[in-house]
Amino acid sequence: MRIFDWHCDSIIDNVMFFDQTLAKNDGQVDLPRLQAGGAFVQLFALFGFHEPRGYKGHADDPYQGKLYTPWEHVLVQYDVFCREMKNFSDKIALATCVSDILENEKMGKISALLSLEGGIPTEGKMERIDALYDMGVRLITLTWNYETPFGFPNSKDPDIMSRGLKPFGIEAIEHMNEKGILIDVSHLSDGGFYDVAKYSKKPFIASHSCCRALCDHPRCMTDDMLKTIGDAGGVVGVNFYSYFLNEGCEYTSIDDVVRHAKHIADKAGIEALAFGSDFDGIQGSILEFEDYAGMPRILQAMEKHFTSAQMELICRENSMRIFRDVVG
Ligand SMILES: [Zn+2]
Repeated sequence: MRIFDWHCDSIIDNVMFFDQTLAKNDGQVDLPRLQAGGAFVQLFALFGFHEPRGYKGHADDPYQGKLYTPWEHVLVQYDVFCREMKNFSDKIALATCVSDILENEKMGKISALLSLEGGIPTEGKMERIDALYDMGVRLITLTWNYETPFGFPNSKDPDIMSRGLKPFGIEAIEHMNEKGILIDVSHLSDGGFYDVAKYSKKPFIASHSCCRALCDHPRCMTDDMLKTIGDAGGVVGVNFYSYFLNEGCEYTSIDDVVRHAKHIADKAGIEALAFGSDFDGIQGSILEFEDYAGMPRILQAMEKHFTSAQMELICRENSMRIFRDVVG
């Protein structure tokens, strides 16, 4: 069975920072492993820094003699992404709509989707959202771990956690709904989450999140949030980071992933369950299944709990449905 995965950090983290390529690298995602694991669609995040950074992401160590603003850094990452797509165009290609995905599949290629993770590079300008759309970005994660022009991040501080979207965030939701960009609530404050639920007229997504009832971490979704996403026709991509699966644990077992997947299906509905691996963003965890090539081991374990029709929904159809509903 082939897999739609809603989040990895591979472009910035291995390809850029370690001068590697998708042909083969030391991270968790490259073309041989995507192929071995059964990739159908892989989303690649462009990362939004909160302050100027060098090429390698260090604030104080400008590589190639230059510090880039958060927006400039997104453009540099985008250039690297385009280089990779061009160099391996026989195996992988950007998709910006459902027909691109289906066309790529017909040609035997993996589809790559683009997102922006963390809204700081937008600087609160709607034309930045338009520029990202023109680059092919079809999902925006409104915050990473910092305040952005959209709103506030998840936090252990109840005051920050309760804060809703900012006026630009509310306006941007309407704009993203109209343009066909998915709104991603992973990393967002609980207050921001409920504002997205209130203002978005389209289904929305938690691209890489787990369940707070099973692991009490503010990055995880409460049962009520899971149900809210499911009721809105959205999806939740289960994240493989051990600290979101088990409090304070550095090891990700296949059973942990299955446990959270089952809980998402239970609270949000089977039609809301998807994958959001977070590969190459979760180097702090030791994974039982190692990397993308280990995905079939997760599917095998899930097949004990889900029917083959349900597995088809989880691996592919739920994600295709929301992509079709929002992006087209
Ligand atoms: Zn993330």
